[in-house]
Amino acid sequence: MHDDHCIFCKIITGKIPSKKVYEDEEIFAFHDIAPWAPVHFLLVPKTHIPSMAHVGPEHVGLLGRMMTLAPKLALENGCRPYPQGGFRIVANTGAEGGQEVQHLHVHVMGGPRPWLRG
Ligand code: AMP
Ligand code: ZN
Repeated sequence: MHDDHCIFCKIITGKIPSKKVYEDEEIFAFHDIAPWAPVHFLLVPKTHIPSMAHVGPEHVGLLGRMMTLAPKLALENGCRPYPQGGFRIVANTGAEGGQEVQHLHVHVMGGPRPWLRG
């Protein structure tokens, strides 16, 4: 379930500290250490899935729950409501997709512009 060498697995198990946003049995969310936007947190499955390129039918429920959780957590963490506010969801995948940490994660970014990036 966890990979001993994975930084996000270490965050999920508390071996590396993080600013927690949300946790349930299968999902963990924490603030990005280098935010691009006034609101920037990451949603991750607790189980070690390397990327979006590794998901299959067994993950439909998990991914659906992550995606439906994102708007709720975005509002709770400072994003303004749609349509004036809103947020951006990004899942970088693989080298050409700009993925740096090899544990599936969804960036949720929002807040007043301009942003540092994105
Ligand atoms: P990606 O390029 O999509 O793989 O994004 C990885 C993200 O993880 C980057 O935005 C990093 O700032 C973030 N990150 C890396 N290490 C940590 C950490 N220890 N705590 C919180 N966020 C982190
Ligand atoms: Zn991991």
